[in-house]
Amino acid sequence: MSEELVLLRDEPLSRHSTFHAGGRSDLLVVESGAALERLAVHGELPDDVSLVLGGGSNVLVSDDGVPGTVLKLRSRRASPGTELRRADDGNVWLDGAWDWPALALGATDAGWQGLESMVGIPGTVGGAVVQSIGAYGYELRDLVVAARAVDLSTGSVLELAPADIGFRYRNTDLKTQAPPRLVVTQVGLRLARGAQHTPRYDQVAAKLGGDGSMRATTYPPPEVARAVLQLRASKSMIYRADDPQTWGAGSFFKNPEIGPDQFAVLVEQLSVSPSEVPHWPIAPDVIRLSAGWLVERAGYRRGFRSGNVALCDNHALGIVNATGHASAAEIAGLAGEIRGAVWENAGVVLDPEPVLVGLELPDPRP
Ligand SMILES: Cc1cc2nc3c(=O)[nH]c(=O)nc-3n(C[C@H](O)[C@H](O)[C@H](O)COP(=O)(O)OP(=O)(O)OC[C@H]3O[C@@H](n4cnc5c(N)ncnc54)[C@H](O)[C@@H]3O)c2cc1C
Repeated sequence: MSEELVLLRDEPLSRHSTFHAGGRSDLLVVESGAALERLAVHGELPDDVSLVLGGGSNVLVSDDGVPGTVLKLRSRRASPGTELRRADDGNVWLDGAWDWPALALGATDAGWQGLESMVGIPGTVGGAVVQSIGAYGYELRDLVVAARAVDLSTGSVLELAPADIGFRYRNTDLKTQAPPRLVVTQVGLRLARGAQHTPRYDQVAAKLGGDGSMRATTYPPPEVARAVLQLRASKSMIYRADDPQTWGAGSFFKNPEIGPDQFAVLVEQLSVSPSEVPHWPIAPDVIRLSAGWLVERAGYRRGFRSGNVALCDNHALGIVNATGHASAAEIAGLAGEIRGAVWENAGVVLDPEPVLVGLELPDPRP
């Protein structure tokens, strides 16, 4: 096989997941989106692909592994952000296999504006699109103008518009494909050059200006990126192979969205005033809640430990493999327990942000 692809038989998927858990499967690693396109066009891809992986930073795979072949798209290129150019269509094109944190920081330092809030998020460019990542008030979906994907069912290469990707909050139509069909190989972004950044989160503004009320001030993107990296590090939100506090998927649960009637019930059930519940109206009838607040309110505090699994010391939404010996079942077990407790306490169902493969959380509703 060429350097562009490696087939690993009976490979422990725990080596390819930031949870450090998951069973064995055959794994085909492809070095770039461009290489994947070539393989597809020449009919050289396996026809039994059952799972697509990028950096494995948002997937929890069962201890039994998965049948068929796992296709992993992952580049070894260390600094992919430093040589970006605007293409003839005005977009900046990224390879789906590139490392997202290296790309985001490299691009920011090279004078591109738009990615500085999203530095430090683990994974690949393709995974970032499929997960619809965002951080500190900025969302990747606002920058994506086009993408290319390999269709595993036909071997053809398709052009995708944002509507084909179906972006939602930490979700897309591509995230929920079972079995997988479209694999993102290239992504076209609309990035500005030389523009300034306006903080949308007080935490970021405070880190930059020392005064959280200074949101109106603008800052050079590289300065913002450093502030974001410091904030993320203080919450164990930067994956490190030597730090079990980061061996999870960042936030395990999405911030839930409910209607005003359910919000009124929640306030009554918790015997609190509305202002005591962290919440953000995001549409006329939709209120977003803080999953972390709900988890702590249900009695699960930072640092909570259950066998090999724990809640991160620095943020309550991080379910982590604290010893490195947790099984996927143990991790899903604690997640299910917390989900049940939040339902009992607040009448809200939390949905997982990572993709669960061969695992399910019990529905706490009667
Ligand atoms: C410490 C830590 C902090 C985090 N912080 C954040 C954060 O601040 N904000 C945030 O949004 N997320 C965060 N995450 C979650 C995660 O990093 C992102 O969701 C990331 O974009 C996942 O990318 P990945 O390449 O690792 O995808 P994977 O985990 O490998 O895959 C995720 C999903 O995408 C699919 N997929 C991956 N690549 C492709 C592709 N090329 N084509 C088609 N499908 C594909 C997979 O099949 C799966 O369904 C964090 C995770 C960790 C461990």
